[in-house]
Amino acid sequence: MPAKSMSAKSRLGQNFLRDARAAERIVAALGDVADRTVIEIGSGRGAITEILVGRARRVIAVELDRELADGLRSRLPQGRVTIIEQDVLGFDFAAAAAEAGPRLRVVGNLPYYITSPILLKLAASHATLDLAVLMVQREVADRVCAAPGSRDYSVLSVTVQMYGPVEPLLTLPPSAFSPPPEVHSTVFRWHFAPRFAELGVDADGFLLFVRQAFAQKRKTLANNLRAAGVAPQLAAAALARAGVDAQARAESLSVEVLAGLWRTLFTPGTTRSGRDSVS
Ligand code: SAM
Repeated sequence: MPAKSMSAKSRLGQNFLRDARAAERIVAALGDVADRTVIEIGSGRGAITEILVGRARRVIAVELDRELADGLRSRLPQGRVTIIEQDVLGFDFAAAAAEAGPRLRVVGNLPYYITSPILLKLAASHATLDLAVLMVQREVADRVCAAPGSRDYSVLSVTVQMYGPVEPLLTLPPSAFSPPPEVHSTVFRWHFAPRFAELGVDADGFLLFVRQAFAQKRKTLANNLRAAGVAPQLAAAALARAGVDAQARAESLSVEVLAGLWRTLFTPGTTRSGRDSVS
């Protein structure tokens, strides 16, 4: 490959994996994919794609960069792999699943500049997905996988974990990539199994409540809710009913407790609906 045409574009988050053992571990983390279609986000120069092609029934790689898409297309055997030159944020996972059959598995060493939009896109496409193995910046993986009470537990932790359990798998230093990024990277696995119905909460309403509850880290949950327009006496009653200390901060509360608070505040007939009190 001519060095000029294949130079990495940093604005597209092009840090190519050069650690072959890591690529093997990432593909292995997808489990048995012999009967599966796997969607790869950002195939780049094919470090992961090349291994996948020998394992999956079918691979659909979504790559925004035309040069990289063309380069990989010309190197990989046609038939089992389709390289789609597209922004993954516009990719229709449901249409791909309708064509491919069973729920899709997803893999990607993500372009870090759009990590959050990609995670939200996958969450929104959850009905068509089985699991995802994703490489992200280590600090993001720490937040995604954080448990209540830890420094990293945040809106991102609750949002992602409401769509199913996550587990960190491996962390790589900058030297595992070319060119090296400025940060460490962590691979995590996400099984899609949404918890909204089980916890009795409405997805949009609950996630809005979570953003309000975590709005200001230094504030207590009660103060954050008050700032969001929940009447103080309603917030106090809901906290008491859930057995939560009046001075608690959102980052100390499990998704189950947060869901219990939401039900108390917003489910008609629980105490009094707080929905009208939220601006
Ligand atoms: N999978 C390769 C690897 O592990 O070496 C490349 C990973 S690199 C971190 C991210 C890849 O995502 C790049 O190839 C980049 O061109 C591609 N990319 C960037 N933005 C994208 C987007 N919006 N949609 C699809 N691919 C994108």
